[in-house]
Amino acid sequence: MSAAVLPQNFKNFINGEWIESRSARTFENRNPASTDELLGIFPSSDEQDVRAAVDAASAAYKTWRLVPAPKRAEILFRAAETLVRRKEELARTMTSEMGKVSAETRGDVQEAIDMTYYMAGEGRRLFGQTTPSELPNKIAMSVRQPLGVCGLITPWNFPMAIPSWKMMPALIAGNTVVLKPARETPFSASRLVEILAEAGIPAGVVNLVHGSGAELGPPLMAHPDVAAVSFTGSTETGRSVSLACARDFKPCHLEMGGKNAMIVMADANLDLALDGAVWGAFGTAGQRCTATSRIVVQKGVYREFRDRLADRAKSLRVGDGLDAATEVGPLINEAQLKKVMEYVEIGRNEGAKLTTGGHRLEKPPFAKGWFHEPTIFSDCAPAMRIAQEEIFGPVISLVAFDTLDEAVEIANGVAYGLSASIYTRDINSALRATRDLHTGIVYVNAPTIGAETHLPFGGTKHTGNGHREASVAALDFYTEWKTIYVDYSDRLQRAQLDT
Ligand code: NAD
Repeated sequence: MSAAVLPQNFKNFINGEWIESRSARTFENRNPASTDELLGIFPSSDEQDVRAAVDAASAAYKTWRLVPAPKRAEILFRAAETLVRRKEELARTMTSEMGKVSAETRGDVQEAIDMTYYMAGEGRRLFGQTTPSELPNKIAMSVRQPLGVCGLITPWNFPMAIPSWKMMPALIAGNTVVLKPARETPFSASRLVEILAEAGIPAGVVNLVHGSGAELGPPLMAHPDVAAVSFTGSTETGRSVSLACARDFKPCHLEMGGKNAMIVMADANLDLALDGAVWGAFGTAGQRCTATSRIVVQKGVYREFRDRLADRAKSLRVGDGLDAATEVGPLINEAQLKKVMEYVEIGRNEGAKLTTGGHRLEKPPFAKGWFHEPTIFSDCAPAMRIAQEEIFGPVISLVAFDTLDEAVEIANGVAYGLSASIYTRDINSALRATRDLHTGIVYVNAPTIGAETHLPFGGTKHTGNGHREASVAALDFYTEWKTIYVDYSDRLQRAQLDT
């Protein structure tokens, strides 16, 4: 089954208009479940397009920052309503370009809806503080100020959710934006921008430039009128973004890789833990930053858990995400499939036991897509590369442990710190784990995935650089505090000196 989408020539969106790239180059967007299906042709933009987009955003900032936030919010509310109305169609398009199953792409659009409504609501809050001055007849307060033009760079695994996580808080706070989405999912990004434009975003406030990150990222980050950069993607690329922004002391928000562990204690409800493991590890074919990629199981239940998980993994239906019966879709592209296959080889060579899966699926009906079997390695040592490095595919590593302290040490013993979870019926174990797991997100009796938009999202160590996405915490990145003192005493008053 495939979406009824005709190939179409897409454009950049700059200063309120859909325009061709100055480069006159293009790239194709194809369905990863069926690569002979061409979804659209997109501009492969160059530095000049980036400059034009930043110029437009910079000019628009002068007026957008002065639009009262509740008025900015009205546009976001309208956009959210359109997202609700078009949810099904947007989800189908997203499954066609990204591969994850329809239930999950509906969830992706829903996340964009939630974020848009949430940030629209912030238009009537954006709270600052008022506090007594230490001097008489003087008011003291702090207010949130926008930063200016924000450069937003996004990955392909949440094609609408992640751009909305960045755009909506940026816009409600009074910033203007230049979005550079992943080359793999330009369609969904275009739809989101189109919906914002239809909702009445003024020209230049939202700009969209398609193309290669390696080519467009550096000029975007270096442009003197770009005040801040928010990036989600791999840790390797994030490092280069961080270094580029450091040169001009530009605030930069990084959301990067993960190697998320689920701890299963012997007292856990194993049926529940198995449901969580299957969803956490193989949902989105493992291509989530929060995917469960290690399961650390207490020795008393290790064998039973391993065998039952293997049975569940073997029975998962792999296929085209538009087919309602499919549980695991394709990988995003050939490079990602090859990476997964390489890691399977690495795991074998390291001496981990391949319990199930381990192969590419290439016979019909899989011949035209990038499919891989759900794969489980058992008896992994915590230091093995498959238990340390982000694979970003349907591959899970099982590690056995004796005590909770050991489990926490294993869970924390990686470079990343996005998400972790523990399955247990013991309140003491649960609370100790929530305290000691060094990750930005911890779940109890739930898998490592399932973030909600009104809570902070982000990770520690090599996953992030201290900022958070979503919730009111996102506004901390997209605004800076201005402190205002108003003295109505009509005389010189000196803080710290006048007693
Ligand atoms: P990626 O780093 O390859 O690309 C991300 C974005 O950066 C794309 O838009 C890309 O075009 C752009 N880019 C590439 N080179 C660049 C450069 N030199 N300068 C500036 N931008 C550049 O990542 P990906 O493959 O698209 O996404 C997968 C990765 O994203 C995984 O590591 C995953 O864990 C991570 N991710 C993290 C989160 C999170 O919130 N922590 C969420 C989703 C994905």
